[in-house]
Amino acid sequence: MTTWQEALEIISSHIEPVSPMWMPIDDAVGLVVSETLLSPELLPPFDNSAMDGFAVRADDCKNASLETPVVLKIIEDLPAGSVAAQTLAQGMATRIMTGAEMPIGSDVIVPVEDTRVGDGFVEIFSPIKPKKNVRFAGEDIEEGQPVLQKGQTVQPAHIGLLAALGISEVLVIPPVKVAVITTGTELVGHTEKPGAGQIRDANVHSLSAQIRSWDAVPIPFSRVPDTPKAVESAFIEAANKCDILLTTGGVSVGDYDFVKDVLKNTGAKLHFWRVDQKPGGPFGFWTLDTKPFFGIPGNPVSAMVMAELYLKPTIRQMMGRSAVGQAKITATLENGFRKSGNDGKRHFLRVIVDENEGRWNARLSGPQGSAQLKSICAANALAMVPEEVIEILPDGEVEVILM
Ligand code: AMP
Ligand code: MG
Repeated sequence: MTTWQEALEIISSHIEPVSPMWMPIDDAVGLVVSETLLSPELLPPFDNSAMDGFAVRADDCKNASLETPVVLKIIEDLPAGSVAAQTLAQGMATRIMTGAEMPIGSDVIVPVEDTRVGDGFVEIFSPIKPKKNVRFAGEDIEEGQPVLQKGQTVQPAHIGLLAALGISEVLVIPPVKVAVITTGTELVGHTEKPGAGQIRDANVHSLSAQIRSWDAVPIPFSRVPDTPKAVESAFIEAANKCDILLTTGGVSVGDYDFVKDVLKNTGAKLHFWRVDQKPGGPFGFWTLDTKPFFGIPGNPVSAMVMAELYLKPTIRQMMGRSAVGQAKITATLENGFRKSGNDGKRHFLRVIVDENEGRWNARLSGPQGSAQLKSICAANALAMVPEEVIEILPDGEVEVILM
């Protein structure tokens, strides 16, 4: 059998980032850039005023004081978006709004608050250093400067910068498409009333939601009946459409568990089946052509735990993200935990962790059965009881994966 750590390593060694594509900037937030992007232009594109006030020549104001203000003639009005018609000469001022282009001849902006405006003239009461309150062309970004570096994640602010520079698309690693194939003849849709022996398909919804929360795109293939034919045709269609394949159910040793057999017949390469862990032990990992294929058990809690443990890092790796592993902390386990026997398995307990004065405390979020969704609803982390450990005493230390 395979341990959790080995399973993670085997999976990771078979994963390649998906091919980059040009994406409209509005769809690129959160995605990883696959080629450094240089600015084609200056930003701001022209020298402009940083204040509402008057564009003047600093030299004209050098002897200004409260007692003897300098009086300048207002020659025109410049709202943002307009361009000066006149060159500014000695003794002149142009009324200017924030963002308007500096008139030729001016070298400084005096804020309106520091002036007194008369009919056709403005008074200035103190000297001002040249260049003050001016935003110069290219002071934010120079032409040829990097806007986004290869490997960087696109943030909302980048999108604004790209738009300001007139860049409409960026080369990024796109969201991966994950086929969510739920198998089980007993399954009906969540809006249906189950007949005798039937249950509603919870997994297609919970797993799709997890996948979305990891910035990937779930493609549902819901409720495939437990027949080799139905299972095979779902796999073929999913392999054509998706980057990762995920099945729930049908991967254990039951008489109607066809996932393994069908994969064998389709030529998928098996890397491991069964992991020494609880929940989720009957878990298989294959590659179908080069696509990763996860066969995880159908129990709703196992399915979510397995997706958290194995699918999430895979999605991150395929989307070019650096921190492939999970965020882990050490916590004390409030009431302790005892395995029912020496099963040699790593147990993943659904826990609620909280921090108190720099120390993390974990407590079980409810009954730990692998079909009991309520306790995973309350949980925000998975506490690990290693393979060789049978008991964690109350307030004993555990390693915890944050969800
Ligand atoms: P299996 O892994 O196919 O043996 O299924 C294990 C248990 O999970 C059975 O009780 C199934 O009925 C249940 N199960 C399988 N798939 C789903 C699903 N999509 N939603 C809810 N329960 C499921
Ligand atoms: Mg089944």
